[in-house]
Amino acid sequence: MANIDSVKQALRQRATETSSSPRQPLSDTQYSAGFDTLVRGSGWMTYEEFIIPQLSQLLAPLSNSRIHISVLEIGPGPKSVLGYLPIRLRRKISRYVAFEPNGLLAANLEEWLCSTSEMESPLPCLESPPDIHRIPFDLNNHTGSGTGISTSDADEKYDIILFCHSMYGMKPKHKFIERARKMLVERPEGGMVVVFHRDGALHFDGLLCHRTASFPTGVVRVANDNEVLDRFAAFMAGFVMQEVEEQKALRVEWRKVCRALGHREEAPLDHLSFSLPNVMAAFTQHATALPELMAQMPLLKGNKTVKNREARLHHPASVVRPTKVRHVQQCVLWALKHGAGLTVVGGGHSGHCLWSNVVAVDMGAFNRVRIFTAGADGGDSGSDSGPFVVAEAGCKTGDIVSKTMAAGVIVPLGARPSVGAGLWLQGGIGHLARLHGLTCDAIVGAVVVSVDSSQLLCVGRVPSQCQPAGAVRPENEADLLWAMKGAGSNFGIVVSVTFKAYAAPTYSIRNWVVPLSNDLEARLKLSEFDNLVAMKLPRNCSADAYLYWDAGQLRLGATMFESSTTGFTTAMPTATPANAIWGPEDSFKVVDSVDLFETEMYMSVMHGGHGGGKTSSFKRCLFLKRIGAANLADRLVAAVKVRPSPLCYLHLLQGGGAVGDVAADATAFGCRDWDFACVVTGIWSRDQDGAEAARAAVRWVYNVAADLLPFSSGAYGADLGPDPRDTALAAKAFGPNRPRLARLKHSSDPRSVLAYACPLPGAPMAPKLIILVTGEIGAGKDYCAEVWVSVFTACTHKSLTARAVSISDATKGEYAAATDADMNRLLWDRDYKEQHRPALTAFYQGQLRQRPRLPEEHFQNVVHSAVDVDVLLITGMRDEAPVAALSHLVPDSRLLEVRVEASEVARRVRRGYHGGDDGGDDYKDSKDNKDSKSHNPNLMALDYRPCLVFDNNTTGNEAAKRFAEHYLLPFFHEDLQRLANMVRAVPCFPRPGIEFRHVLNISQQPGGLGLCTSMLQAQFTGDWAEVGVVVCCEAGGFVYASALALRVDMPLALIREAGKLPPPTISIVKPQSHISSSASNDSREKRIEMERDIIPRGTPVVVVDDVLATGETLCAVLQLLDEAGIGPEDVSIMAVAEFPVHRGRELLRRRGFGRANIQSLLVFGGA
Ligand SMILES: Cc1cc2nc3c(=O)[nH]c(=O)nc-3n(C[C@H](O)[C@H](O)[C@H](O)COP(=O)(O)OP(=O)(O)OC[C@H]3O[C@@H](n4cnc5c(N)ncnc54)[C@H](O)[C@@H]3O)c2cc1C
Repeated sequence: MANIDSVKQALRQRATETSSSPRQPLSDTQYSAGFDTLVRGSGWMTYEEFIIPQLSQLLAPLSNSRIHISVLEIGPGPKSVLGYLPIRLRRKISRYVAFEPNGLLAANLEEWLCSTSEMESPLPCLESPPDIHRIPFDLNNHTGSGTGISTSDADEKYDIILFCHSMYGMKPKHKFIERARKMLVERPEGGMVVVFHRDGALHFDGLLCHRTASFPTGVVRVANDNEVLDRFAAFMAGFVMQEVEEQKALRVEWRKVCRALGHREEAPLDHLSFSLPNVMAAFTQHATALPELMAQMPLLKGNKTVKNREARLHHPASVVRPTKVRHVQQCVLWALKHGAGLTVVGGGHSGHCLWSNVVAVDMGAFNRVRIFTAGADGGDSGSDSGPFVVAEAGCKTGDIVSKTMAAGVIVPLGARPSVGAGLWLQGGIGHLARLHGLTCDAIVGAVVVSVDSSQLLCVGRVPSQCQPAGAVRPENEADLLWAMKGAGSNFGIVVSVTFKAYAAPTYSIRNWVVPLSNDLEARLKLSEFDNLVAMKLPRNCSADAYLYWDAGQLRLGATMFESSTTGFTTAMPTATPANAIWGPEDSFKVVDSVDLFETEMYMSVMHGGHGGGKTSSFKRCLFLKRIGAANLADRLVAAVKVRPSPLCYLHLLQGGGAVGDVAADATAFGCRDWDFACVVTGIWSRDQDGAEAARAAVRWVYNVAADLLPFSSGAYGADLGPDPRDTALAAKAFGPNRPRLARLKHSSDPRSVLAYACPLPGAPMAPKLIILVTGEIGAGKDYCAEVWVSVFTACTHKSLTARAVSISDATKGEYAAATDADMNRLLWDRDYKEQHRPALTAFYQGQLRQRPRLPEEHFQNVVHSAVDVDVLLITGMRDEAPVAALSHLVPDSRLLEVRVEASEVARRVRRGYHGGDDGGDDYKDSKDNKDSKSHNPNLMALDYRPCLVFDNNTTGNEAAKRFAEHYLLPFFHEDLQRLANMVRAVPCFPRPGIEFRHVLNISQQPGGLGLCTSMLQAQFTGDWAEVGVVVCCEAGGFVYASALALRVDMPLALIREAGKLPPPTISIVKPQSHISSSASNDSREKRIEMERDIIPRGTPVVVVDDVLATGETLCAVLQLLDEAGIGPEDVSIMAVAEFPVHRGRELLRRRGFGRANIQSLLVFGGA
């Protein structure tokens, strides 16, 4: 499949060859029609799978720290991609300016953005109309306010400047980026210039990327139809001929080019596919910070090429080569200061050691290997006295092997001498693995530069001679050492590693090559190899197999390695199980660890030995069991048969033995249960690097990996990267350790300095459960919060983490800074705090007048500093109805308010004699303070209902514990997760940009309806005995309410569209629900009705609905109930799923239904 760039070149070339008449640029109509061929259909996939997720990820921190976002977009086309971002990001965009020189596209864009239909506007919170300039963005123009172009010096500034559809025609590109960078808002920092470019490479001279990503798998499919190809070809070439007849002739030629280069697929529709790689580069104010680093750092001299061909295609911003640990620390400090990422170069064998426009830190100067025989490590090795090997991070496998062997010891390493630190930090599978384990299992200590603080850290055993001055032991030392063993490229820049060493063995090596005449024989021989040879071997032996094609025939190569520390006699090989089956070996050798490298079958036997030498490779590795079983053996054979080039092969390295002795969660390398590591190896001739042959080999590797994945027990994390085809493999790497690794990554590399190492799952963006603990002063909120933290953390079978924080601490800090008050005493000294209470209240009120959104800001800050816990309890809240007001800010979390109630006597006693409960209410407004002095608990005075109320009138913590066990822990019940798993996510339904959650799908799953209704029954916080009727509105509500009514043995009250129920009825007008309004343009309001007198006045009811989104439906139901004489205080709402982003609770409260109790079984962050 030809790359789109080569198509463009070929089209231009053909025009030059066939016509000499003048060319003319495309008209607006021609450009617009061509653009359409590119983004339509499969081209949209690039948006869906790359541009939208990358943009959402980049904007998320910005959206968390800003109330509003202003955007300038360059060349958006007929619709802005921003309109397809998640709704919570779209709602933040308050200003939109664009440069779209194509008048037609600009008009479409304007119409689309200003859409006034019932469908939600793409950017619903714009504070002024979109400002679309119908001219190109150039290096001089200015955007002022209004619709025209201003030349005023007071240029408008933006939080985001987006080049979404490539930077073609903008030269030099870095000048455009620099121009845009100057248009970013300077304070607060965090604004970005973001470029998406339709091409594999995007090089910005001397500029530093904040983040970069690539999407190599993009494809565009164009209908194989003359007219469509004409539009496409003209758009790609960028011109047409002035002469009509010449253009006609050229069209024919262009169609031929497209058909010759496109990959044709006839079903379901006849079309041609072209590869359309895409890259993203994001720049901040710091894009010009490179010289600062280069001035203080040794740079790589000469043109060192790394081994990996993928990495070689990248153009790093700079490659620095630290020679001292201090230099590495300076790199990190610089990266932290400028929000930059870094890559680290070890042996250079992965595709991720160099990234375009990112600084690479080459560790090559750290190349010492030091050996500490028993007791020679300065007594730092504890009970296990060695021997140990300390290898610096620039060492290669070959360096370590040759130096240690000279001292009579060995570290179990891999099969190639040139491979570097990436191997031991991410696993390390070699011929001694069955005897001594993986390389990472031998790691007992490390010296690491923290990418959080740039501090030098020592973890585990590091001989005193190897501890650099100033190194400290981190608090999370055990975690970090654990992570070094299998995921070590993600948690800091490793300076050196201490390995446990073993006595150096010699090896006997035997090779067999078995020709395979057909598939059946292939399966039989693999089965023999697995069952009769490999499985029979003791731990000091391992057997590798190769499935490859040579001289027109499929072959099975087998190598048996036997290690011994007492030596072999070279004269006479002893018989092995393989001899009994395959006869005498083709070759037999006894070698030491250095010569072992050359005995690899790939190096010495297959394809005439190393494929002639000038080759490049791409590998992915899966862990397999029972390779001789028919289903697997057939797949392995089939894979080799469809290899795209003769040199591609499968390498099966034997595991088991010591690899499996280690528990999956004992080290970060969590895949332990396998017999063979299957390395799918794509090879091509080196002169084809970057060409179709290379792409085909890579595609083959991924296809085979995808085919084997369902039969595998894991994937090797080494070298997995951001390629979307790695996602499924990464999900199976690290076994059960992914959540722990994600949390550790978040805490050890919070600013993603090592953003390009093996991708770990993202840490949750917010705690799963956020509990706002409210109540009056002295009610015991802080005390209860701490008790509840202990209940969550003590619940060991769920291994939950929980923390309580006071939201008022931020204000106390600002008050202390402004007034010289003592912050510590404000936090801990109750009398001191009481003295300052009036001033603190006045200070807060003053701040609130200046920053009306302060409560939201504080809330978001508190939540975002606690993403490392499952449960966050927040005290010190001062907002009324905080769940209604704040839940849309944390749409992925369940937000609850638990109000702590206590009698005035109890509160007075606690205020007087206990130091615990201050709850931050110190600066509550006077109304609240007045309320707190009233005689009765304040519940009835509230115009809304807290989610839960805890009566804290008894002493001791038993009641609080029971409350948490009964009401709070059930939010982590596994049945809720089962239920959530039944809600299918459907992307782009009912329209692009919406990820539809199919909540009704629960009822279509076996056992789904029963599970859902039992949870509705169990999670109800009221008393079923007091409920009289279950109320529901068609259609979703009917499904769940009927089943629930049956279960709790209660009558139903049905609410239907007007005209469907017999008189007498009562009715009200109901606006459309969120999803129906997205699905259709029908904006008519509907009436809904209920039979009059079906519910006696004042009866407590439970309203059941499938979804709580905008709340319009529930408002209508509550209004109808109100008409029927049932007030909100008698209504409990139970929704199966809630989408807080639509602020349904807020609407209910605004419409006067705040006193209804609302509960949702599931909470979803999507739209
Ligand atoms: C020809 C070949 C043979 C191989 N043989 C084996 C084998 O026998 N057994 C096996 O298990 N694997 C093997 N591999 C896989 C190999 O382990 C990985 O490719 C590994 O990532 C290579 O590490 P490197 O240091 O050479 O590469 P690099 O690209 O330099 O590094 C790989 C990763 O580690 C990170 N990294 C490197 N140094 C540091 C550091 N000091 N601190 C933090 N991060 C760092 C890099 O940033 C990068 O993300 C082989 C690969 C190839 C290409």
